[in-house]
Amino acid sequence: SDKLLEVNNLHVSFKTHGGEVHAVRGVAFDIKQGETLAIVGESGCGKSVTSLAVMGLLPKPNGKIIDGSIRFKGTEMTTLTPKKMRRIQGVNVSMIFQDPMTALNPTLTIGSQLTEGIIHQKKVSRKEAHQKAIEMLHMVGLSNGEQRMKQYPYQFSGGMRQRIVIAMALICEPDLIIADEPTTALDVTIQAQILELFDHIQEETGVSMIMITHDLGVVAKTADRVAVMYAGKIVEMGSKRDIFYRAKHPYTQALLNAIVRVDIPADTLKPIEGAPPDLFAPPDGCAFCERCPFAMEVCQHVQPPTSMVDENHAVDCWLLDKRADTIRQKVEIL
Ligand code: SF4
Ligand code: MG
Repeated sequence: SDKLLEVNNLHVSFKTHGGEVHAVRGVAFDIKQGETLAIVGESGCGKSVTSLAVMGLLPKPNGKIIDGSIRFKGTEMTTLTPKKMRRIQGVNVSMIFQDPMTALNPTLTIGSQLTEGIIHQKKVSRKEAHQKAIEMLHMVGLSNGEQRMKQYPYQFSGGMRQRIVIAMALICEPDLIIADEPTTALDVTIQAQILELFDHIQEETGVSMIMITHDLGVVAKTADRVAVMYAGKIVEMGSKRDIFYRAKHPYTQALLNAIVRVDIPADTLKPIEGAPPDLFAPPDGCAFCERCPFAMEVCQHVQPPTSMVDENHAVDCWLLDKRADTIRQKVEIL
């Protein structure tokens, strides 16, 4: 199979003080070699939790995969012990977070942080690791590698630190990089440079990427395919063109209406009114119901099934379902 990662019917729950939160509710997607899937949605929609589940990094003991399948290179991950899963994913998948300082140890040189992982995981000599680290620094646009290796994180700017984190993510030659809001903490110019860097790295290495973001600008610059998440579910998935030019789900359309565009004056922007539902008690019907201008009776009672707009464009909305009229009548009778 050309699928590097296949996620099916993934359900994740969290125990909190307030009770159990059903944070991810039946998510399915796959990733091919060399492609970038963007997972986009508001904070709390389950996009980060989905990626932590894929990494085997759900916070213990409160976060739990309660159902579904995660296959990586054909191997089922959910039946492995968390420890074994983390070992496999630790070598094959790298994660990049929003704040580079959380990934860097302020008391160690860049050199020792870059080489540590590869020495442990790939059992290479210090000398080889050193060479490889300098190569990686070069790939992420940092010249003077020899000198950089001796410096500490505080000696670099935020943008440079994120480049170092990216070099760390690359050094073990992962098959997949999961980047969770990797440019959100950076200013706009640096943000654009880092996104270009991801492009460059992908061309050089063929690595696959999951780009987790709330920012459709980041999606536009990086994604091949896009999954739009809302209240723990993927509500629309398609190519970048499908999502930007042929969006069918009212939530995706609302997200697109809310983005700043140079051709539209800022005061005509329409933020999405209302808030997502509480996932302590997920709704019976469509989770977007309360905010959706097109909501029908059926939407409140029955989860919208997935409709295929075409082969690769899927939408979970009653508006696209041929049976909606019949079911609507039935619901009205109830
Ligand atoms: Fe709106 Fe109904 Fe579609 Fe949900 S299923 S997005 S409520 S029309
Ligand atoms: Mg997040």
